Amino acid sequence: MQGKLYVVATPIGNLDDITLRAINILKSVDIIIAEDTRHSLKLLNHLEISKPLISYHRHNEEIKADGILDKIEEGNNIALISDAGTPIISDPGEVIVKEALERNIEVVPIPGACAIITALMAAGVNTRSFTFYGFLSINKKLRNKELEEIKNNRNTIILYEAPHKILNTLKDLENYVGERKIVLARELTKIHEEFIRGTIKEVEEKINTPKGEYVIIIDEDKEIQNEENELNNLSLEEHYKYYEKLGLDKKEIIKRIAKDRGVPKNEIYQKFIK
Ligand code: SAM
Repeated sequence: MQGKLYVVATPIGNLDDITLRAINILKSVDIIIAEDTRHSLKLLNHLEISKPLISYHRHNEEIKADGILDKIEEGNNIALISDAGTPIISDPGEVIVKEALERNIEVVPIPGACAIITALMAAGVNTRSFTFYGFLSINKKLRNKELEEIKNNRNTIILYEAPHKILNTLKDLENYVGERKIVLARELTKIHEEFIRGTIKEVEEKINTPKGEYVIIIDEDKEIQNEENELNNLSLEEHYKYYEKLGLDKKEIIKRIAKDRGVPKNEIYQKFIK
């Protein structure tokens, strides 16, 4: 009988942050595939789990996927883990999962720690809608495009960054989003866990020597949100006229009113027909 591919989240720092289900799956599978096998061995030794390990990483994932999936078709259950946290999220694994699905292999998620969600849990920002950008590109052209997109995105924004690049990235963000409030979540779940809050400038001043791992959270654009709230105090007709004056066509106006008021487009459309 064909086996299954389990995508298993592991801790992002504190080794206790692993679920009972994840431990049971790691104990029960035939093979574990890991990004850096030496790194994962520390966790597996801590859990007293000894299994055959196969390494995979972003640069060999495509080459390795076939062989790994052959083993599942031969009847082996395989767990895919990354160096830390949830595989696939700014980590390799996506290719293997996509190819597994193409080969009708069952993929089972085993949830657990993830730096995005852990940071949001204590950041104190609006979590109704947020956009995750992962690591900003190092290619200058792509990076500027991403920064431009971030500037125009009113939602809460989440980025990952390495310590040696954090100051440079904060400078770039300052140029694009200016006064928006941010939260820097550092070393989550570890001894030196820290949340640094303020404008980008204030946060920069609080960092002396960047150390550890960082999640950058940019709070929603309050100015735009306030403007939206004010729009919602208008009558529907006044709301319509506001956008009409900006030169938008009927379809776009209805779309924006629906978004501002958090209701389906059709509902606004029906009200206008009435
Ligand atoms: N898959 C992981 C997850 O579930 O969050 C992310 C892997 S990505 C290669 C590594 C980045 O995640 C780090 O550079 C940092 O931005 C963020 N990160 C991971 N662990 C963290 C921690 N304990 N504290 C803060 N940020 C962390």
